Amino acid sequence: MRKFNFSAGPCTLPLEVLQEAQAEFVDFNGTGMSLIEMSHRSSTYDAVHMEAMALARSVFGAPDDFSVLFLGGGATLQFAMIPMNVLRPGQRGAYVVSGEWSSKALDDGSHHGDLYAAWDGKSVDYKRMPTTDEIEIGPNTRYLHVTSNETIGGIRFNDFPLVDVPLIGDMSSDYMSRSIPWERFDLVYGGAQKNLGPAGVDITFVRNSVLEETNQDLGAYLRYDIHAAKNSMYNTPPVFPIYMVGKVLAWMEAQGGLPVIESLAAQKSSLVYEAIDASDGFYFSPVDPASRSHMNVVFRLPSEALDGEFLAEAGRRNMSGLKGYRTAGGVRASLYNAMPVEGVQALVELMADFQSANA
Ligand code: PMP
Repeated sequence: MRKFNFSAGPCTLPLEVLQEAQAEFVDFNGTGMSLIEMSHRSSTYDAVHMEAMALARSVFGAPDDFSVLFLGGGATLQFAMIPMNVLRPGQRGAYVVSGEWSSKALDDGSHHGDLYAAWDGKSVDYKRMPTTDEIEIGPNTRYLHVTSNETIGGIRFNDFPLVDVPLIGDMSSDYMSRSIPWERFDLVYGGAQKNLGPAGVDITFVRNSVLEETNQDLGAYLRYDIHAAKNSMYNTPPVFPIYMVGKVLAWMEAQGGLPVIESLAAQKSSLVYEAIDASDGFYFSPVDPASRSHMNVVFRLPSEALDGEFLAEAGRRNMSGLKGYRTAGGVRASLYNAMPVEGVQALVELMADFQSANA
């Protein structure tokens, strides 16, 4: 029996996509071989690759002056590649530090450029995102890096900051679940393994004018301009993840595209937040309501013992992946694009039943 999988990533993917991939796995489209056995220079793979790229652009509504890159190394490699490529001598990168992932982006990127925190949410316990007027951009700042959704803290930017420098966005955990104001961004990136497919590929959208100015004094794999010029086939791309991403994107399009996915994400997360709010404090969300994530809903029960019992009951009801992040504890329900409404309803039912039995 298929579980309702609330894992933070890798995570649930559409069943139809898994079944289609299974049916095509051994003999891809009558070629007599699996897609993962054939040359990435073959016309068959090329069509898969270019289709996935075109879908990434169209589903996300990326303007024509952005290039789409499929890269290895996950979002983590982007933490380093961004300052390496984008910063020119004398320029600095500003970072909104809103939790664990943005903190990693800043720390890791600092090996490769002069970066600083333009806002740090430590004083508010990382319970919310900043407003624009709280962000302090210093001189010679080339970009402001934001993490659109903090996967561990369970907070998101409802509105992206309106600042005088271009934004760079880590969208790993709410990628293509929301539309974005492209005119404010120079670059957005994220790993595929939450909303878009299996682990193994990062998708970076970069403005073409940025590519013209990127640092060329880097090893080839580290250069955005080379990947863009070669349509992300400078070297052997992660063919299977890219193929799967193409399928998930086609599935998203069939669901009605980004507007439908975005409104479903709001509805699904609201169901859980309403259950928390209606629980008279039995379930407690540490997150400021104005910054509530639509993807990762974090909450706690009155005691750690009850957390454990709740998770055990969830397991008996065919739900998995609800345990909070290892350092955060509690419960985290990740409601990515492929999580069906029925899964969220099952969770909300569990919350009500468990509270009646234990309050
Ligand atoms: N940023 C965010 C917001 C994330 O959630 C993650 C992974 N969970 C990362 C970056 C790191 O991504 P990767 O594992 O693809 O390097």
